[in-house]
Amino acid sequence: MEIDIKYNPISTRKKRLMRLEIANIGNPILRQVAKEVTIKQIDSEEVQTLIDNLIETMRFANGAGLAANQVSVPWRIFVVEVKDNARYPYKPDIPLTVLINPQIEYLTEDRFDNYEGCLSVPDLRGVIERCPEIRIKGFNRVGEPVEIFSKGITAGTFQHEYDHLDGILFLDKVKDTRSLCTWDEFKKHHEDDFIKQVEKVVARYGS
Ligand code: ZN
Repeated sequence: MEIDIKYNPISTRKKRLMRLEIANIGNPILRQVAKEVTIKQIDSEEVQTLIDNLIETMRFANGAGLAANQVSVPWRIFVVEVKDNARYPYKPDIPLTVLINPQIEYLTEDRFDNYEGCLSVPDLRGVIERCPEIRIKGFNRVGEPVEIFSKGITAGTFQHEYDHLDGILFLDKVKDTRSLCTWDEFKKHHEDDFIKQVEKVVARYGS
C-alpha cells in the first residue's frame, strides 16, 4: 500500500506533548552530522511525535529554533518560530516552520554581524557573521517540498539551525572571542547597540 504523504497524523491523533531534554555543548550528539530522513519516515508516528515535541520544547525554552540533534535525535529536522520572544525581543517574528532535509543556498556575498545564543550553549552569546539573503529548500512535516527565501536576522536564525544539523555550533564561527558574553552582560552592555544594528539590517535587507 502506498503511503499518502499528505495525510497528517497530527490532525487525527491525540497529541501527548513532551518537553525533551536539550543536549548541552560537550555532548557528542551536537557534533554529529545528522542523517537525512526518508519521505516514508516523515509520515511515521516517530517523526511526527518528534516534530510536535521539538515545537513544544522550543516554545517552553523560549528558543527561536531547535534542531533534532539538540534533543539527541540525529536527523536532519529543525523547527523555527519567533513571536514576541522574551529571549530575543528584537527579533522579527517568524511563523512556525518545520524543515526536513533542508539545503541552504547563499544568495549574496554580503555578511552581517549577528549576536547569537543557543539553547545548547547556556548563558553565552557571541558575534558571528551571517549571510543576509538565503534560499532554503527542504520538506515540510507532511512531506511536501518547500522553498523559503529568507532575509536579514531571520536568515541568520535559519543558518544557525541548519549549522546544528552539520554538527556546528555558533561558537565555532565566533571570530573575535572578546565578543563572548553572558546573557546578563549582554543585556547590560551590548543589547542597545545590537538593537540599533538589527534595525539597520532589517532596513537594508528586510527581516
Ligand atoms: Zn542553537
